[in-house]
Amino acid sequence: MSQALGRVFRRTAAAACLCGAGVAAGCAPAVSTQQEVALGADYSAQINRQMPMLNDQATLNYVNQIGSQLAAIADPRGIRYHFYVVNSDVVNAFALPGGYVYLNRGLIERADNVSELAGVLAHEIGHVAERHSIEQLQRAQNANLGLNVLYGVLLGRNPSGVEQTAVQLGGGAMFAGYGRDAEREADRVGVAYLVRAGYNPNGMATFFEELLSMQQRQPSRVEQWFSTHPTTQERVNNTRAIIAQTPGAQGGNLTTDTRAFQSFRSRVASLPAPPDRRR
Ligand SMILES: [Zn+2]
Repeated sequence: MSQALGRVFRRTAAAACLCGAGVAAGCAPAVSTQQEVALGADYSAQINRQMPMLNDQATLNYVNQIGSQLAAIADPRGIRYHFYVVNSDVVNAFALPGGYVYLNRGLIERADNVSELAGVLAHEIGHVAERHSIEQLQRAQNANLGLNVLYGVLLGRNPSGVEQTAVQLGGGAMFAGYGRDAEREADRVGVAYLVRAGYNPNGMATFFEELLSMQQRQPSRVEQWFSTHPTTQERVNNTRAIIAQTPGAQGGNLTTDTRAFQSFRSRVASLPAPPDRRR
């Protein structure tokens, strides 16, 4: 276990003992923002070493530009968010505590316009800003769940010995997925961030509908997304209802697409095929 994680969990374990009932009873000890960022940084460094990452600077600049714009609106703690692209055809996105957000290349290539990309980013940022990510990590740690879940979800295979050691960072099981309430909340706050940032929030709904339709056509491609972010038509309908009630959400001045997004997407599509497509 890394030092930062070890420190936080030793401290939180002691606090849980004091309150006597632990996380399950809703008295999870608070992790400070500073601790949360340290945890996220540790975890992110591990993931960046072990996952196939897309290291194309122009691609990363574009994702970071849109992501940071949303994060500045979303997270009042003022922490710096970092956005990465996993070089995989599988459609997925995930967020680590402390503002480390990952999009898979497969997801980017399936977004039709910038409002869909911004929609997914806003949803993931919502999981961090609303502290779903850190709470899930704490729950996973508390339940002492296995770490193989991380690799099952992210890579679709069991970890090798080396990977297992590296992931013993603790908390891989945070990727076991969010609950429906967390999903709904991330959608709700995501809509608000999008409107404030000037993006058409309907992109979030249309993109989730695209994922639902992919689930019928190419289930294995979107399995990771659905196992970590339970997405149903009901949730999409709920998102549409939230949009309908949000002042300014239907304004004609909101951005749905840009030329910059289309050239970004073409660039990503032209990069060498990801390892899982070559297999
Ligand atoms: Zn989610």
